[in-house]
Amino acid sequence: MMNFANRFAQLQARKNQALFRQIQVNDAPTGRTFECNRQRYLNFSSNDYLGLAAHPLVIKAYQQGAASYGVGSGGSPLVTGFQRPHAILIEQLCDWLDRPAAILLNSGFAANQLALKTLLGKGDLVVQDKLNHASLIDAALSTAATSQRFLHNQPQSLAARLQRSVASNRLVVTEGIFSMDGDAAPIAPIKAICQQQNAWLMVDDAHGLGVRGVQGRGSCAVAQINPDLLMATFGKALGVGGAMLSGSIELMELFTNLGREFIYSTAMPAAQACAVSAAIKLVRTTDLPQILIARIEQFKTLMQQTSWRLLPSDSAIQPLWVGQASTALALSSSLREHGFWVSAIRPPTVPAGQARLRITLTAAHTKDDITRLVKALSCLASVFNEANHGHH
Ligand SMILES: *Cc1c(COP(=O)(O)O)cnc(C)c1O
Repeated sequence: MMNFANRFAQLQARKNQALFRQIQVNDAPTGRTFECNRQRYLNFSSNDYLGLAAHPLVIKAYQQGAASYGVGSGGSPLVTGFQRPHAILIEQLCDWLDRPAAILLNSGFAANQLALKTLLGKGDLVVQDKLNHASLIDAALSTAATSQRFLHNQPQSLAARLQRSVASNRLVVTEGIFSMDGDAAPIAPIKAICQQQNAWLMVDDAHGLGVRGVQGRGSCAVAQINPDLLMATFGKALGVGGAMLSGSIELMELFTNLGREFIYSTAMPAAQACAVSAAIKLVRTTDLPQILIARIEQFKTLMQQTSWRLLPSDSAIQPLWVGQASTALALSSSLREHGFWVSAIRPPTVPAGQARLRITLTAAHTKDDITRLVKALSCLASVFNEANHGHH
């Protein structure tokens, strides 16, 4: 019998259920186009919401950072890998987001692992939104704490769970903007419940930072609250990569001393920190966030004249409801024939029967790009009418 035959059987099952995934090589620079097998598409699946990944000033900062500091950091941050650009970036983040302290990680995935694994132990309670990102769900399950989920965006469901628990260490975790649905969490009511129930609040604002609120300060700024712990990634609206955790000075000392994803991982290249710094400057000083908002409004308005249903979202993430995984794949491939790259999101990323197209809009799209996408979707509406049936 082959080793791990049970695992490979799982893979075969994915293939049989239209759930198999394959990497597609993109030959275009990050931005409004996607190039695959010598075909060019308009890219409506990118998280580079402001078009900063290929912005000349961000590229220049990366190049200059590499010239000054080398292309790699040469070590973990507590050994020799923490260079001046890292310190400058942290200072800039704390000023921008009005946070006491922050640490840098190589990815949001690692940051979420670190936060939950360092804080939570036996007898503790973590309660998170049912639709939280896999990195948060997995992190919670890998601790000895009691891990619960509350109904999506329903503060009452959260309150009930906290009321039932006698745990003294309580952590509540929500996203700012949900990655597959695009809707915003009711952060202010959640924060109020946390205060009543003596729980800490952690917000993962991977999709809110850089795009929401004054100067792109994110979902917590919009809700006018300060979470005990804020995680944000640099690989989405900021267009680069890496992540931060921020909170009190003591909490960051705890993470710096006990957070294994921080201690035992090579620091991000200083050049990358330079690029993130340049991206933040652009978020704060240009009208890129406003351009994105205009594109979102245009898209939503035009889509109202079609028979498609969008999930309720004001963010750059505009999910188009489909239902069946195989239908989502077929629609995605029809759009490809029209020159649009829009990924189908299927289980297990979303629950069974809730497959969708995750359309993402960016400030790099032109008004005409949006108009053309909606036209193509209109053309396909009659063909896919049946599939779109049964929602709501
Ligand atoms: C993308 C994402 C992450 C992971 O961040 P990376 O930097 O890509 O590892 C974590 N949480 C949410 C909500 C995300 O969307």
